[in-house]
Amino acid sequence: MASTITTTTNGATAANHAAAANVSGRDHVVIFPFMAKGHTLPLLHFATALTAHHKTLRVTVLTTPANRAFAAGRLPPSVSLVELPFPSLLPPLPAGVESTDALPCPSLYPTFLRTTALLREPFAEYLASLPSPPLAVVSDFFLGFTRAAAADAGVRRVVFHGMSCFSMAVCKALIVNNPPDAAAGGGDTPFRVPGMPEHVGITVDEVPDALVKFADAEDPVTRFLVDDVGFSDVLSWGVLVNSFAALDESYVAPLESFYQVPGSRAWLVGPLFLAAAGDTSELEEEEQEHDPDGCLAWLDDAQPGSVVYVSFGTQAHISDAQLDEITHGLVQSGHRFLWAVRSDTWTPPADVGPNNGRIVRGWVPQRRVLAHEAVGGFVSHCGWNSVMESLAAGKPMLAWPMIAEQHLNARHVANILGAGVRIDTKPGGMAAAGEVVGRAEVEEKVRELMDAGGEAGREMRARAAWARREAMSAVSEGGASRVALRELVDELQRTYGESVTSSLTKGKCS
Ligand code: UDP
Repeated sequence: MASTITTTTNGATAANHAAAANVSGRDHVVIFPFMAKGHTLPLLHFATALTAHHKTLRVTVLTTPANRAFAAGRLPPSVSLVELPFPSLLPPLPAGVESTDALPCPSLYPTFLRTTALLREPFAEYLASLPSPPLAVVSDFFLGFTRAAAADAGVRRVVFHGMSCFSMAVCKALIVNNPPDAAAGGGDTPFRVPGMPEHVGITVDEVPDALVKFADAEDPVTRFLVDDVGFSDVLSWGVLVNSFAALDESYVAPLESFYQVPGSRAWLVGPLFLAAAGDTSELEEEEQEHDPDGCLAWLDDAQPGSVVYVSFGTQAHISDAQLDEITHGLVQSGHRFLWAVRSDTWTPPADVGPNNGRIVRGWVPQRRVLAHEAVGGFVSHCGWNSVMESLAAGKPMLAWPMIAEQHLNARHVANILGAGVRIDTKPGGMAAAGEVVGRAEVEEKVRELMDAGGEAGREMRARAAWARREAMSAVSEGGASRVALRELVDELQRTYGESVTSSLTKGKCS
């Protein structure tokens, strides 16, 4: 495929960018996020953190035309943006759909994944156009082709998954050691995960769907994970993790044990949105986020701790029947609520009666909403960014996981950390056909989440407050995440120019 790379800058002039490109690659980091909001945002924050704390580094973020505005609006002028053409070879992906949240239906997800793999050629062309190899390519796990393409250009790849060490280590362990057979029963009895610390027990119901299907060679996502992603991942030079040591350090060694490049490390540099704030106030950075529905002004009128914030992220498709039950449950709980709804077609049931809730459909400035004193708890699907943001704000969660590794995140937050309660869902959660959690359970669990007076509520809040203190401390001067970020750059620069293995070696695919 002939491709056109458009080099644009995010505020700096094109001439500046060209001049900068002639400087040694040792000071240049290339970041390539996957085209899903939950994967892109933390890498934009990483780019910002790098320029904030390492002023001599030049950082380039790779994007595609339809994703450019989203990235540009969230990066400082010092970060360059390079646009690669989004491949258009795979109908029936509609033109202009370049991000998973824009997919009209979940069944197009495998096609989307395969299409992104066609970015290999423009990516290799971009690397070849640079005067010298950059210090590293930091790229998403799903962009598996970046490892070999970078290696061909003599560049190390640092992989980013968007997941915690806990969830990544469990997933990898379960690929190598099959989980117990769900058909044999015991779906909700925890089992030990080989290689994980003793306190970790997970249930069959929490095993991510992709792992349940892992033995199915015909499953298109499995094929993609095995053929395009798995080997590239474990052959990466290192792993960038959006988490912090106090929360995740027990799982670092189990995770690192799966990586095959000698000395490869997991670098815990999060929460990345806090790291990106640098020495300026976190909220100053957040001011840049839009609030088209006026959520923050609405929260200003509410009593401290009185509002439950509800969001299921940018990926999950939720049935209208379930959305109806959630509405009734929230209203019956008697609490004020602010609910970010993804569906454009659902309308709230007419018979809910008077209530103090607010439903919004546009972009919600979630981090600022969570940090607002009016918010007392978060009903969340437990996407890892949402978990980081809730903990960094010291807010407990009602964990309602749906897809991917979200059930593992729910276990981590609610059962292990103790900063939340859980909705009882089956694998696939609301995504599973026909499964609807009733209004009575929603009401009961929301009351439990928002009950700050009882012993359980106080304990949950104390755990969330502890996580907030640790998150803030991790990104402050001398904190574990700040130190890890410096060590990552130092180690890459110290070893710049050392040979990079370009061919895949036989190994575990995990
Ligand atoms: N987000 C936001 N406003 C929105 C929708 C999403 O700020 O209206 C952000 C949210 O704060 C989080 C990310 O998008 O940083 C979603 O990532 P997460 O891992 O929580 O869930 P996913 O969408 O990947 O399932």
